[in-house]
Amino acid sequence: MSRTLNLSKELIAKESITPKDEGCQDLLIHHLEKLGFEIEKMPHGEVQNFYAKKGSTSPLIVFAGHTDVVPPGPIDKWLSSPFEPTIKENILYGRGAADMKTSLAAFVVSIEEFISENPNHKGAIGLLITSDEEGVATDGTVKVVEALQERQEKIDYCIVGEPTSSKKFGDTVKNGRRGSLSAKLTVKGIQGHIAYPELIKNPIHEVAPAIDDLVNTIWDEGNEYFPKTSYQVSNINGGTGATNVVPGHVEVLFNFRYSSSVTAEILKERVEAILNKHKLEFLIEWQHSGQPYLTEKGMLVDIVSSSIEEVCGAKPTISTTGGTSDGRFIARLCDQVVEFGPINESIHKINEHIDIGCIDKLKDIYKLALKKALA
Ligand SMILES: [Zn+2]
Repeated sequence: MSRTLNLSKELIAKESITPKDEGCQDLLIHHLEKLGFEIEKMPHGEVQNFYAKKGSTSPLIVFAGHTDVVPPGPIDKWLSSPFEPTIKENILYGRGAADMKTSLAAFVVSIEEFISENPNHKGAIGLLITSDEEGVATDGTVKVVEALQERQEKIDYCIVGEPTSSKKFGDTVKNGRRGSLSAKLTVKGIQGHIAYPELIKNPIHEVAPAIDDLVNTIWDEGNEYFPKTSYQVSNINGGTGATNVVPGHVEVLFNFRYSSSVTAEILKERVEAILNKHKLEFLIEWQHSGQPYLTEKGMLVDIVSSSIEEVCGAKPTISTTGGTSDGRFIARLCDQVVEFGPINESIHKINEHIDIGCIDKLKDIYKLALKKALA
């Protein structure tokens, strides 16, 4: 049986629901120690992290990923138990099959094979692994990155194993992610009886034209790598439940997914200017959950794309779509971060799965990338 498949199954069998690791990292470390990696465990609170490295010359290429998975949801809806890796008709089922325990297995086996085939390679290989990617992501990669920044560790290339393929394995590589900025806006009015409009100030009526303005604002035109910045309202809450009462305030939650053509500061200023233009009495609480990052086309994008083309027979699309990822933290100490992994169609769903034919292809792509960077 394929060693990558075997290791994937061993990892899936561990119930590492975020932020638990349940021994996944020890299993990876066991393999890495045999290869001569130096291991640094960096736990924070409940979260397990480690940084492993072999070699001290440049370039340093690092694989990054997470051992935690999202909860399985109702177990009776699964075809097989989510933590009992099961193969049916060449499909491997289990929580983490695509996001991203097979990528972790592919990292380790690609490194083992690369080192045995190229014992005198140049440069260095690293791994940055966390159990806090699917949760709040405050004690995971970000903490390791801070520690590495402090001692001025320089990473030349980083491959994140997130499931980036869309319809077909190997069709998409991510070279960046949009930023994410959320806000809770509270607009004040004057509560009162609906029949006495002269005595009240309806905050729902006050905020409506401002929302319309925000929706119709063009925040930027995007750029070569990013689509236009998008503004979306996710919740509006106002009202006492009674049909004859105008509420004293209304709450609006919204989010920006923004390109590298603007900054969070600019968006905040522009929103507040629009709210002021509408003469609203408001309070706004901002939450900046992700800085955008971008790796322009260059060495690592070329290495990963050509490795995919050699294994899969077609060039991937280079994209920055989708949610945020730990790539945003790693980009602080590494100019070239690229994400590539399995098909993401079943991730976080019931019956998460991967075609087993893709598992060794993924390992081969990572191995080729190592060869192109270090051999
Ligand atoms: Zn993931």
